[in-house]
Amino acid sequence: VSADSAALIAAESEHVAHNYHPLPVVIAEAEGSWVTDVEGKRYLDLLSAYSALNFGHRHPALVAAATRQLGRLTLTSRAFHNDQLGAFAAALAELCGKDLVLPMNTGAEAVETGIKVARAWAYRVKRVPVDAATVVVASGNFHGRTTTIVGFSDDPSAREGFGPFAPGFVSVEYGDAAAIEAAITEHTAAVLIEPIQGEAGVVIPPAGYLAAVRDICTRRNVLFIADEIQSGLGRVGETFACDREGVVPDIYLLGKALGGGILPLSAVVADRDVLGVIQPGEHGSTFGGNPLAAAVGLRVVELLATGEFQQRARALGAHLQELLEGLVGHGVTQVRIAGLWAGIDIDPAVGTGREISERMLARGVLVKDTHGQTIRIAPPLVIRGTELDWAVEQLRVALGT
Ligand code: PLP
Repeated sequence: VSADSAALIAAESEHVAHNYHPLPVVIAEAEGSWVTDVEGKRYLDLLSAYSALNFGHRHPALVAAATRQLGRLTLTSRAFHNDQLGAFAAALAELCGKDLVLPMNTGAEAVETGIKVARAWAYRVKRVPVDAATVVVASGNFHGRTTTIVGFSDDPSAREGFGPFAPGFVSVEYGDAAAIEAAITEHTAAVLIEPIQGEAGVVIPPAGYLAAVRDICTRRNVLFIADEIQSGLGRVGETFACDREGVVPDIYLLGKALGGGILPLSAVVADRDVLGVIQPGEHGSTFGGNPLAAAVGLRVVELLATGEFQQRARALGAHLQELLEGLVGHGVTQVRIAGLWAGIDIDPAVGTGREISERMLARGVLVKDTHGQTIRIAPPLVIRGTELDWAVEQLRVALGT
């Protein structure tokens, strides 16, 4: 780390809470798949801000939409209407094949909103007794960092020391549809799962799982909530990870890439019979549905509507899969991949996930470890095949095999 970077890192750690352990690089500029640090060194970004940068850094169409809107109107609150929200909601509803959109800001807020909507539906439509509604979740889940959400996590570092937690959640083994069925009672409002678990290390459930969950939820009159905050919006080679099994959930939770990597924008998307249960005054957010985010979000939806990014993720993902599978047995113990999204388990004999990430950083590639031995990669969907070749070559060298 050079003197400039070291000084900036020291200044940051002096007054910023230490709730992250970043790699030692200070980024100053970025374009497409590449970032530049304060010394002018360039790095290929294989993390994309945990999939929030699916369209790359500063996609020209998204920057243009934001810039145009910055010159007109940025915030009204929803005490009033603005001239951007309606078009964004209509486009997003159409992309999802649903009726209604409830706009929020962060992913965790979308998850919280989805839980509230499911509970309201359970009491008002399904007629579950007051305060008795439950939500079935899965082991290994990651849905965000609020107190309710960490209460149903099984990751000790996410939950220990942060209780007491909200009741009403039942956790079962991820990937086991029969366990979901067994956990459902007449008080169950919803099943909340990630169609592919991102933070857990790109954990892909067995084929048929999502379709089975859909079938169970329909038969048992329970809402199927798909947290597509990390898996959705082109990442896996389809618009949604649920599309891999031709499954349509009752509620989509979206975030991250929805804001184009420019600003926080999340949403709950569902049909009128579900989302229509929420009445004025029951839920909201000062910044939710703001015209700046809506202008960017509309452009994001328009980019996805072309299918181009999904197609790129599919084609490049097949190429990445071939490259990564060549590393299995050479410092890599297992690879899981869906579209342009991969979890790579590092053989402890060659280093920890953190050590490999640091070696990759030194070689000009940004990746980040998750859960000790796993490296998750989620390149911008605008990356080139030759750049992937080069990045995987750097990984091969970093593994030292
Ligand atoms: N849900 C999933 C599946 C996620 O991967 C994340 C973030 O990593 C979240 C929710 C939380 O999103 P945010 O960090 O914007 O609150």
